[in-house]
Amino acid sequence: MTTPVDRSTTWPYENGEPGEFTYSRYSSPTMAEAESRLGALDGGKALLFASGMAAETALAMTFLSPGQTVALAEGSYYGTGVMLDELARWGVRKVEFDQTGAPPDADLIWLEAPSNPFLTMPNFEASAAHPARVVCDATAATPLNVRPLELGCDFVTHSATKFLSGHDDALAGVVVCKRADDAARLLEFRSRTGPVASADTAWILMRGLSTLEVRVARQTASAKGIAERLRAHTAVLTVRYPGFGALLSFDVADAEAARRVETATRTIANMTSLGGVTSRIEARARWEGSRVPPGLLRLSIGLEDPDELWADLEQALEPTL
Ligand code: PLP
Repeated sequence: MTTPVDRSTTWPYENGEPGEFTYSRYSSPTMAEAESRLGALDGGKALLFASGMAAETALAMTFLSPGQTVALAEGSYYGTGVMLDELARWGVRKVEFDQTGAPPDADLIWLEAPSNPFLTMPNFEASAAHPARVVCDATAATPLNVRPLELGCDFVTHSATKFLSGHDDALAGVVVCKRADDAARLLEFRSRTGPVASADTAWILMRGLSTLEVRVARQTASAKGIAERLRAHTAVLTVRYPGFGALLSFDVADAEAARRVETATRTIANMTSLGGVTSRIEARARWEGSRVPPGLLRLSIGLEDPDELWADLEQALEPTL
């Protein structure tokens, strides 16, 4: 009933020749099974990595060269921006642009659907019209809501640590490629540099995938209700929610009010990350500094009773009124 976990790092040659699996830095049966399921979800060839950032770094290093420019959607996951800043030492230039419009001239375009924590959606058509390859990080959307390869993108990435595994117990990342030759090149880079996911991680991820649809459906229904109620709350200045998925952000007056709210919730944990079965809230300024409004709180909705979640938020917002 379940795919076995094969923890081998090496497999015998067959009649003196390498078989499908030879050494787990290249590929392994449990990882390959997870990749086949992930590829089916996004409609392409999937490669699994040790983390979302490992996947993104491999993608950037494989398809960018010194002297080239990457156009990154402004307000997207701050970790993507700082990873690309690291690559500045290897001659890669980063420019940021408003992804709701057309991208500037660049060698690689990097979108995020929806952006984290600003929750903007890309203009897929405008980016697809650009001659450069287009990447879309769809971590917060999941393939149930947005399938970027069908919208003109060449690659979709996910932090599989989030909704795809769904229980805060697996660190993994995936790149799904539209073109077989791109996938072959990325596989070569991964095999040479080694940032693969372990068999156990691949197995935990597959178990998460088997409940993805029901989790995201319930989380979305709850998030929609919470976004509406937050919009009507007088202590809340702005609510950002794209109308689907379980990630939203909202602003309270200032950093002090945000700290009061995030430390006053009881059902909703005060911690980072998103996409798990447990709801969590955090002031993003602690990580992102002045890039975000000081009162911005990011909220990821889990599987708890939505009325209980709202009661928790209401009591936490009360003293900021
Ligand atoms: N992309 C997005 C949108 C994220 O939110 C994150 C992590 O928060 C990542 C990528 C990085 O993934 P990981 O933490 O698995 O390396």
